[in-house]
Amino acid sequence: MNNTEIEHVAAARQLHQRAIVIDTHCDTTMHLMDDHWDISAKHDTGHVDISKMRDGGVDAMFFAVWAPGPIEPGTGIEAARAQIKRIGETVQRHSDLLVAARTAEDIRNAHTSGRIALVIAIEGGYLIEDSLDILREYAAAGAAYLTLTHAFHTTWADSSGVHERLEPLHGGLTDFGREVVRELNRLGVMVDVSHVSDNTFRDVVETTAAPIIASHSSCRAVHDHCRNLSDDMMRTVAASGGVVQINFAAMFLDPDHPPIDRTQMRRWWDRGGGDPGVLTDYVTPLTVLVDHFDHALQVIGPEHVGIGSDFDGVPLVPGQMEDCSKLPNLTAALLARGYSEQDLELVLGANVLRVMEACRDAATVLS
Ligand SMILES: [Zn+2]
Repeated sequence: MNNTEIEHVAAARQLHQRAIVIDTHCDTTMHLMDDHWDISAKHDTGHVDISKMRDGGVDAMFFAVWAPGPIEPGTGIEAARAQIKRIGETVQRHSDLLVAARTAEDIRNAHTSGRIALVIAIEGGYLIEDSLDILREYAAAGAAYLTLTHAFHTTWADSSGVHERLEPLHGGLTDFGREVVRELNRLGVMVDVSHVSDNTFRDVVETTAAPIIASHSSCRAVHDHCRNLSDDMMRTVAASGGVVQINFAAMFLDPDHPPIDRTQMRRWWDRGGGDPGVLTDYVTPLTVLVDHFDHALQVIGPEHVGIGSDFDGVPLVPGQMEDCSKLPNLTAALLARGYSEQDLELVLGANVLRVMEACRDAATVLS
């Protein structure tokens, strides 16, 4: 590193201590479900634990509640309830370091008290098993957003697919899918369009009365991948008042990344994550991740971009971004590209707080 780079890294570290830093998507809940895994211990593998979050200056982490689908009836709700319970137990066990958060105010209070906020997010609309009552149960338990689909179509919403674009099933949202969006609006739960097909995206935008978010999605203009958003979609999220949270998965970011197929991914998941070297030894350069942020910032501005790493949900992340303790490297790179600390404070977390508040306000008006 030259002197300017060292200065940027030092400034980024200070900024991360001062600003509220929020990551809207990790899959570390998978580790929490393992009785032998302790979030307060230091881990050589994995992307997220308390010490890594502290080192990265992370103030709030959204923990995805997720089960691989398609699911047998009843198993989605069971899995979601167990994970929600476990997130709560984790916070209680480490209440000196962690705190449960549902609102922007909760996150601000966590920052003031020097604790890290854990926020519940539901990933995959199939986890409500076609029941608005179950959706309301998740909202009452603290869910801050619902990702409408995951890697496959639900009974009421088409997915983008993860490895390749899927053939449409419904052509977007069904009538019940629209009801789900309206109920989310009414509950003040954010509608997350990461993982949805372009047609579902269009129908969500037509239906929602509140800002929408993409909790973990990158830019199609930088890498034409089915999990990424086009510039038009990003402009639409911004126009709703929402935010696009850039995903760190190397395979979504990097056109030069070797393809990882579903079977390989499955094998990696079944091993409980861990060493990604079993998949490939190719490493995506950090500059590719920075290119996605740069592009999004140019297209929709600093008020509508943020961080949705997908840590612990994806095996391969860029170099110099090996886990969440390395987040200041991203901030340093964006400072080097000329973005101001004020702009980056928005990207690091202030935007998410604004959208959480706007969704709560919309809920008050609707209910
Ligand atoms: Zn995901």
